[in-house]
Amino acid sequence: MSVDPNLSYRDNENIFRTLIEESPTPVGLYVGREMVVQLANKSMLQTWGKDASVIGKTYHEALPELEGQPIFKILDEVYTSGIAYEATEDRVDLVVDGVLQTYYFNFTFKPLKNADGSVWGVINTAANVTELVITRQKLAESEHRTQLAIDSAGIGTWDIDRIKGSIIWNDRCAELYGFLPGEEVTIHNVRDHVHPDDAERITQSVVEAINPKNGGDYDDTFRIINFADKTIRWVKCKGKTYFNEDGICYRFAGTTLDITKDINMREEQQKLIALVENSVDLINVASLDAEVIYLNKAGYKLLGIDEPKNALRPTSDLYMPKDAQKVHDIAIPAIMKTGKWAGELNYRHFKTGEPIPVYLNAFRIDDPTTGKPIGRASVARDLRPEKEARNEQLKLLSLIDNSSDFVSLSDLDGNVSYVNTAGRKMLGINPTAIYRHNSAYVMPDETNKLKNEINSALAKSGRWSGQINYRHFETGETIPVFGTTMLVYDAITGKPQGRASIARDLRREIADQKALKDSEHLLKNITGASPTALWMSDEKGSITYTNQTWEYWTGQPFEDTLGDGWTKCIVEEDRRRAGEQFIKDLSARRHYVVEFRIKHKNGAIRWCIAAGNPQYKQDGTFAGYIGSCTDIDDQKRLERQKDDFLGIASHELKTPVTSIKAYAQVLGAMLTKEGETKKADMVLRMDAQVNRLTNLIGDLLDVTKINSGRLQFNKTWFDFNQAVSESVTDLQHTTNKHQLIEDFSNTGEIYSDKDRIGQVITNLITNAIKYSPHSDKIIISTKLENNEFTVCVQDFGIGLPMDKAEKVFEQFYRVSGNKQHTFPGLGLGLYISSEIIKREGGRMWVNSVEGKGSTFCFALPVNDSKMDQPE
Ligand code: ADP
Repeated sequence: MSVDPNLSYRDNENIFRTLIEESPTPVGLYVGREMVVQLANKSMLQTWGKDASVIGKTYHEALPELEGQPIFKILDEVYTSGIAYEATEDRVDLVVDGVLQTYYFNFTFKPLKNADGSVWGVINTAANVTELVITRQKLAESEHRTQLAIDSAGIGTWDIDRIKGSIIWNDRCAELYGFLPGEEVTIHNVRDHVHPDDAERITQSVVEAINPKNGGDYDDTFRIINFADKTIRWVKCKGKTYFNEDGICYRFAGTTLDITKDINMREEQQKLIALVENSVDLINVASLDAEVIYLNKAGYKLLGIDEPKNALRPTSDLYMPKDAQKVHDIAIPAIMKTGKWAGELNYRHFKTGEPIPVYLNAFRIDDPTTGKPIGRASVARDLRPEKEARNEQLKLLSLIDNSSDFVSLSDLDGNVSYVNTAGRKMLGINPTAIYRHNSAYVMPDETNKLKNEINSALAKSGRWSGQINYRHFETGETIPVFGTTMLVYDAITGKPQGRASIARDLRREIADQKALKDSEHLLKNITGASPTALWMSDEKGSITYTNQTWEYWTGQPFEDTLGDGWTKCIVEEDRRRAGEQFIKDLSARRHYVVEFRIKHKNGAIRWCIAAGNPQYKQDGTFAGYIGSCTDIDDQKRLERQKDDFLGIASHELKTPVTSIKAYAQVLGAMLTKEGETKKADMVLRMDAQVNRLTNLIGDLLDVTKINSGRLQFNKTWFDFNQAVSESVTDLQHTTNKHQLIEDFSNTGEIYSDKDRIGQVITNLITNAIKYSPHSDKIIISTKLENNEFTVCVQDFGIGLPMDKAEKVFEQFYRVSGNKQHTFPGLGLGLYISSEIIKREGGRMWVNSVEGKGSTFCFALPVNDSKMDQPE
């Protein structure tokens, strides 16, 4: 403040006075040794708690309560020494509003001096700092209290000077880290104590805390290693960072709390919770008013509950209605009274409503401090698997009990403890009498087997199987059985627990075997006595059985006949044919029949006919053959004799017939010449009959040749159509009634026996004429198709039933048996023809409609080139 220099002294004095008067700072002026209060502004008066009446009085008179306080003395000294006195927060007790109160002042006593240096008064300024002091005192007090609290709570406090790197901490903190109280430590020392697993994380979070951008709060939980007591502790550190104007952290302070116990407790608790949560048994906790407040996972699953809101409901909802009542009436009262209850109950599936049988262990939960009950909990085991196992066991037991075999159980020493029904029946023993040593179960002479063989097998491999003779308890009769005894092991320890035996009564089997043997023997005798060998083959044609007859004939032992061994007995020339026929029939699954010669053990070679019938299994699959082989040699010999006879006879007939023919021709010519036409005509007829005779003899000869395999072929190249045409022309002369019509296509040259082919064509046309007496047309056609020369002879005669179509090609077969006289013949023509065609590599067939006519055809293969000639 400046004073206006234009103002008068008086004005100035007034201004000062007013300023002083109104100044908020207390000001007083005391004059003379007596310290007369000449001035005390409002603020001073207020401080003193006095009014203006004190002005003019001495200091002593104005403030008598200061008597005994240092202030008078100080004031006197200032006056005397001329040295100013300054005090800060000095305590002054003043009577204000009639009450002595304590104040704190910052005050000055300044001496006012005359020009000669002598003091004439003291000016006093004062600032009431009572409020400040008291607040500070209170703060200090509360700090003290906090410290006390901190100390008693075991909280460590720390204060890091980031600039210097030093740490100030309390004893608790030092103790936690394992330092001595008051020991000097640095940040590095402390950092070394952080657990290696946490070190990196802590460094990172400290870096974040001292970054001014992050607000300066620090909160972390980590492990420290106390080197002194070698323990690891969990600590929770909370702190604050302080930054200067440059954003540099100069101070970092906070607290450290040992939470090892909490963490351990929490871990224990978590383990416990996990245990409960993951228990396979249902665990639930209920309040005293029977509301579920917790249900573990197994509970959710067992009861089919998806959501907690469905689980947290009255406990009675969890049970089947009847059991809910039981819980209410019996279980809960028991729990509340005795602290626990256990028993079987049925839970109710939340979704399906089905009962879930459980064994329940329920107990009361008491408050550990007050001891008062606060809830109930229960652990329930699902009984279904057990029940099922029990059922399975029962089923198994009933299976064993109902088994038709003997089943027994005994201990390791062989003391029997169980024999099933079938076993008891077999041995004639009643249920109460079974408890004996197993040696009582066998015939006396079998006890050695039991002791040595069986026991050692059990010791070695845990199992014995074999035949042994049991003994009937009542009759003492021997009961042969096939038995198996094995060790039974404990499912858990794996140690042998006992022995189980199962035995099959062999009496029936042995009897059956004997019967079978007897009947086999009988069969053998029967089949062995038969003139027919019997055989069986599998589906591949491999012989699996031959009876004794075969062995009797051939001397080939049974084993050697198996497979295709039997074919070794067939004579070389027939072997291939017989084998091939068998394979052919087998692959077609059809009836097999073939004739062949076999070598007998006495060296004779005899014809037999083998026949087999295909067999099928129940499912329809082919099983092989059952067949026979019959000796037909006697028959065959007759046939051969007949053939021989025919051969000789026809040969012997041929010579005289040829002579007759020659004489007839000569006679005919002579008679014609003599004009004896009538006689000549008779001779001509005789010649025709001789021709027929010649043909018949020729046929018979051919048949004997065919049958004895001596039919000769004379092959040449000739024009097929031309050859057919020649036969047609010849035969046209023999008939006036029928017109032979040629219907030829282009054919070409063929390599064959021209005469034999002509013979076939002649036979077909002759038949056509013979068997169509009431028609006048016969069509002969040829063609070359599919590499075959074909000739067909069509007539419009009597025809033949198609079911006879194949038979007409057989020896001596005649359809029109009863019309023998209408259509004379031996039934050889078609047989000879078809044999000729067959041997030329061709085939022959007929199409016919009875009463309408027949078409007989044959086809011969084309020989591709003249070089391709069969020898
Ligand atoms: P055969 O004529 O001497 O009896 P085949 O061997 O020539 O002897 O004929 C056998 C049988 O075939 C004859 O008995 C006859 O019943 C029948 N047959 C042959 N050709 C014909 C035909 N063209 N029409 C009707 N039946 C025929």
